[in-house]
Amino acid sequence: MNGEFVAWEDAKVHVLTHGLHYGTGVFEGIRCYETELGPAVFRHVDHLDRLARSAELYYMPMPYSVSELRGATHELIARNRLRSCYIRPLVYRGYGQMGLNPLEAPVDVTIAVWEWGSYLGDEGKLHGIRAKVSSWRRLSPDSLIPHAKASGQYLNSVLAKVETLKAGYEEAILLDDHGHVCEGSGENIFLVRDGVIITPPQTASILDGISRKSVVAIARDLGIEVVERDVARAELYLADEVFMTGTAAELVPVWEIDDHRIGAGRPGELTCTLRGVFEDALHGRSERYREWLDVLGEVGGVGEADPRVGGAAERAEAAAEAGLPIEAAAG
Ligand code: PMP
Repeated sequence: MNGEFVAWEDAKVHVLTHGLHYGTGVFEGIRCYETELGPAVFRHVDHLDRLARSAELYYMPMPYSVSELRGATHELIARNRLRSCYIRPLVYRGYGQMGLNPLEAPVDVTIAVWEWGSYLGDEGKLHGIRAKVSSWRRLSPDSLIPHAKASGQYLNSVLAKVETLKAGYEEAILLDDHGHVCEGSGENIFLVRDGVIITPPQTASILDGISRKSVVAIARDLGIEVVERDVARAELYLADEVFMTGTAAELVPVWEIDDHRIGAGRPGELTCTLRGVFEDALHGRSERYREWLDVLGEVGGVGEADPRVGGAAERAEAAAEAGLPIEAAAG
């Protein structure tokens, strides 16, 4: 937190933290994978660059450079002796000034790491999920900034996710303000029709997903045509295959949408091929996509746990008490 390594149970903020009231924060979701080369963060600098751009879009001067954040993250993972983890950097307006003008409030930075399994479940990743088109539209670029990954904006995703879960589905699909298909509550979306991959364009209020970019590159490398264009809702139902991509979820097939079976009702051929290559890239099994990996050993190495961060047992206990996943926060 703000340059200090802090034990999980001490990673606290004041109740009058600006971001807590007005959503004035930007964040990233990043994953570190255990690979043959050691723990490796997937497209680390791309994620940190997006964080810096999100901060800039909301007029938040980041007190640390991308390279400082990268180094701190490496050290944090190494101190916690994690081989694989989820990484959550957060840049937010802190304590000191209430009211809607955020410019006088400090900009605080935290990074937290913890072990986090498949976001949509191992079963979902393997066999696919059931999704529902939400009645909530994705936030409009007239009101907010879809390209920014900003804390307050996620109330939009939360509404869609809750609606979907209560209706008995696993994930929401949001339409944009024109009624075109946009994305999931925390994933980009793709469909396959007649061997062509189609995904909504930058102008459809999407978050410019890093997994999306990676899967598009992989598909084109495999010689598969990828088209970025507006997608009508019914095209989802008529698709041969649908899948979603995101850092937390990775690549997840969708086998049913609004009670319409997609294709044969199981993960399609292209989906499985792309999932295989993407997972090889994530886990460092692909020489071709090696440049996407930020290997920990190359900066600091995986050393002993820092005694200041507390022992693993204490951290696990404190996290369990708080109902949270394990591990500590720093920045
Ligand atoms: N859309 C939204 C709204 C998201 O929260 C995410 C997750 N960051 C994505 C798409 C996928 O982005 P990425 O592949 O960079 O994780």
